[in-house]
Amino acid sequence: MTNRLTTIISLIGAPGSGKGTYGSMLASRMNRCTFLSVGDVLREYSEQSESMSKTLQSGDLVDDTFVNDAVLQRLVQLSSQTSQDGRILILDGFPRNQAQTVLLSKWPRELQKIMALHFDVPDDICITKLLGRRKCTICNGSFNINGVDANGFYMPPILPSDGSCPTKCNREIDWKRRDDDTEETIRNRMNIYHEQTEPVLEYWLNRNSLLTFVPFNGVDDIDVISDKVGNALRGQFK
Ligand SMILES: [Zn+2]
Repeated sequence: MTNRLTTIISLIGAPGSGKGTYGSMLASRMNRCTFLSVGDVLREYSEQSESMSKTLQSGDLVDDTFVNDAVLQRLVQLSSQTSQDGRILILDGFPRNQAQTVLLSKWPRELQKIMALHFDVPDDICITKLLGRRKCTICNGSFNINGVDANGFYMPPILPSDGSCPTKCNREIDWKRRDDDTEETIRNRMNIYHEQTEPVLEYWLNRNSLLTFVPFNGVDDIDVISDKVGNALRGQFK
């Protein structure tokens, strides 16, 4: 492991909280910052393994050591692709349970500058957004056909702006749900989040490395989020 990837920001939030969206937006706004979705890494593996594919579709968690090794391997890859020091890596989906925090604490010392960013969104709002997620098979765009306007949260649907789609894709035909976005799987993932992932917040609290944010305005809050993260990084990791 080289000394090139130094700061890791772990995203925590219920499925549907938007953490992946905020994470990739943050990465594009920050210097020398890369976004890594553990779910995407595992889906790549599942293309080669039927049992992995079944586990992911059921919403159950994958073996902790396997996930840990897969994430670390990708970190080494990313680190060998850059010659820059002081990089920031935004990690979506690790650690997801207490056992994974134990594995994380054994990571190489170069990767120990870490903090967590927690997106605190009520379950019913997460479920509405999850059921609205669509991926376009033509233009590869990510959209959300469901909007939320309740309890102070205001998140309009995420649709392509007029005329912005060069492929003229058709939302009725070309926009697909992810295989694991069924109602049953969503409920299962929500339960696992509360039972297994939420307790991880304490790990970060105890290290004084937890930043919690309530994204009342969805993606419109990205400026506030990136200011908060910038301040935290400057204050904590000088
Ligand atoms: Zn499209």
